[in-house]
Amino acid sequence: MTLLDIEDLAVTFPVEGGTDVPAVDSVDLQVEAGEIHGLVGESGSGKSVTARSIMRLLDDAEVSAERFDYRGEDLYAKSEAEMRSVRGDDIAMVFQDSLSALNPVMTVGEQIAEVVRHHGDVDESASLLSELRRKYVTGTSESAPSWRRAVELLETVGIADPEDVATSYPHQLSGGQRQRVMIASALGGDPSLIVADEPTTALDVTVEASILDELRRLCDEFDVAMLLITHDLGVVSETCDSVTVMYSGSVMEYGQTDQLFESPAHPYTKGLLRSIPERAPTEGELTTIPGSAPEPADRPTGCPFRDRCPAAFDACSEPLPEHVVEDGHVTHCHLYTEGDDPGDVSWDATIEMDGEATVDEATDRTTATEVTDG
Ligand code: ADP
Ligand code: MG
Repeated sequence: MTLLDIEDLAVTFPVEGGTDVPAVDSVDLQVEAGEIHGLVGESGSGKSVTARSIMRLLDDAEVSAERFDYRGEDLYAKSEAEMRSVRGDDIAMVFQDSLSALNPVMTVGEQIAEVVRHHGDVDESASLLSELRRKYVTGTSESAPSWRRAVELLETVGIADPEDVATSYPHQLSGGQRQRVMIASALGGDPSLIVADEPTTALDVTVEASILDELRRLCDEFDVAMLLITHDLGVVSETCDSVTVMYSGSVMEYGQTDQLFESPAHPYTKGLLRSIPERAPTEGELTTIPGSAPEPADRPTGCPFRDRCPAAFDACSEPLPEHVVEDGHVTHCHLYTEGDDPGDVSWDATIEMDGEATVDEATDRTTATEVTDG
């Protein structure tokens, strides 16, 4: 079942007396129940804006979409009160920066217990006295079901000393522990979807690997789907069932993780793949795509990647096409829709992202030359 179904999302930030910022331009995004879907792209490609649009946290922006359904219901047709119950109970969010996302003056156990109570599946006396006690005296009684559930969740997310951590304040914990706390808190509302925006980006690689393992296990165990936002395709290959690749506000390609890694069908995806150590063309040599992504205001017409693409040709200034590579695998690259067999294109050459781009007179296509000087 498709949990989240977004078609043709556009998000623009109005700038008074200036040029509006079209942060996200044409985004289709589907997340199936129970799966981990990666949303990957360089910094500035619109991943966080897309994530916030799902939680309807973009008060300062104009949001439009052909479709924006969660469980078949239009999220943007809901009242603010209905949205409040969606946030947390149905869709929970985990941010990169846990220190600013967590309340600094409340123990983490208290914060998780609050989510658990808000979700309402613990039988707990809500008498005035216990409310007052919670607020002003010592917080939740450690014998309360919501507190016990909080400790249990901390243990579930891999915290070794959950009782101690529960009584700690965020600043007393390590970055890795805080991310685990955020995940525990997200699970506290028993959601069907967790939107995790670069949840491990600030952590060192061993902690990152262990938290990603944990996330996979938890998604299985709690039968929760996740939209995992990352700039790192290595994270996607380790963790995600399927993936959407974004570039400068638009989707370039999406499919099952296997499909994208085995037969990437967009030059941008190919370029990204070459920046993963295990996939580099020569051992020890990492290549990055030369240049940087344009600011939304400087984006070229048509394909936003065309100024950096070694395979760009005339058609790339036209609106993005859609081409089904195989069932479930779609690329928005003009090379596929020109009517030619894309086999004509020398993909080996086009993924030499370090090479100089040259125009082939015969086909009027740009291909890249091999890198010769190492
Ligand atoms: P990512 O998460 O992929 O790094 P973002 O979604 O944060 O990228 O940002 C996408 C684009 O939207 C960027 O160009 C950014 O500058 C712009 N943007 C994000 N938030 C705002 C805002 N509140 N006002 C204006 N522009 C914004
Ligand atoms: Mg971001």
